[in-house]
Amino acid sequence: MALSTDRFLADLDALRRIGTYKSGVHRPTFGPEDMESRHWLVAAMQAAGLEASIDGIGNVFGRHPGPGPHLLAGSHIETQNQAGWLDGVLGVVGALELARAGLPVDVCAYADEEAHWGDFIGSRSLIGELSEEDIDAARNRYTGAALRPTLEAVGLAGRPRLLLDPARYKGALEMHIEQGTQLENAALRIGVVTGIVGIRQFRIVITGQQDHTGGTTMRERRDAGLTAVRLLGLLDREMPRAAAERSVWTTGRIALEPNAPMIIPGRAEIVFSFRDLSEAVMDRMEACLRAVVQESNRQERCPAVLEEISRSAPALSDPAIVGAFQGAAEALCPGAWQAMPSGAIHDSQILARKLPVGMLFVPSIGGISHHWTEDTRREDLALGMEVLHGAAQRFLAA
Ligand SMILES: [Zn+2]
Repeated sequence: MALSTDRFLADLDALRRIGTYKSGVHRPTFGPEDMESRHWLVAAMQAAGLEASIDGIGNVFGRHPGPGPHLLAGSHIETQNQAGWLDGVLGVVGALELARAGLPVDVCAYADEEAHWGDFIGSRSLIGELSEEDIDAARNRYTGAALRPTLEAVGLAGRPRLLLDPARYKGALEMHIEQGTQLENAALRIGVVTGIVGIRQFRIVITGQQDHTGGTTMRERRDAGLTAVRLLGLLDREMPRAAAERSVWTTGRIALEPNAPMIIPGRAEIVFSFRDLSEAVMDRMEACLRAVVQESNRQERCPAVLEEISRSAPALSDPAIVGAFQGAAEALCPGAWQAMPSGAIHDSQILARKLPVGMLFVPSIGGISHHWTEDTRREDLALGMEVLHGAAQRFLAA
């Protein structure tokens, strides 16, 4: 019952051969390649001595038959379209190897973390926060296909949906690729995740007057596009005063109407979001955004209206799990690890509503992810597995 990083790497390679796309994979949730990988995982779980099943939303769950206290470990097995071979799979195969190494670990591949069908439908279902109505309403974001008949088509209709029993677990662990360049730039090999950032997303709608670009004088016109540009410029100058060192903010979308070369824009719609690990910092950033919109309305002829689209709370890692990861990392690669927040969101953020959670990052070469060239050095993958294993042992013994 010893840990085998060779077996772990061999399983990562095996999953890379299901839905291969160039040097990556293409396994969108509930497509044929994705279902093949889920059935592959069931067989691998059974071979590891776990009681394995796929539930009614596609979660693949391997229950450890022995006594507790147990850990829950996992990630996701589907991918973005034409994407990388490690995003998600790393944490699932890592969890499986923990069980094979004899630790009391339940392994889960949470369905559709990559959001082909919605927003964390697998992990939300597992913690009891996905209703039947949510499933009825869910559509594929690329094809518009309905989820309910799709579940039936892949043989999951009528299966019960697993519900997490928080009392069964001491905590939940997830190993993942960093999907950024911080570790690589610092020549470090392990990231111990202190928490997953919260995200607040807003829409700013600016109303002007659509008009002829030749006949309308500059004094007369109310150009919603110009107001949008000036508002965003002001926002980018003011935001650093409100933000913290690791805060990020993004104008992901600017849409002009009618967006025609010879027509003054009558309407501009901006989608603006920001992320941080601290609610207090995000409160300051939101106050800054509101003040900038107010200032724009004082100065501009085109009124701007701010509305919230969504907000998610930051999820802090459990201090004891962080301590276990740090202890294992320092023992296995002294000085070559750092504590860091996760700027990307993961299933652990959902599980944190019910369990103590912690995450481990390994470096992404060039920071690339959600693309088929995504990769990590094999020695870093193996080290990640060893640190995950060491941390699980430490946390269980704590
Ligand atoms: Zn992922």
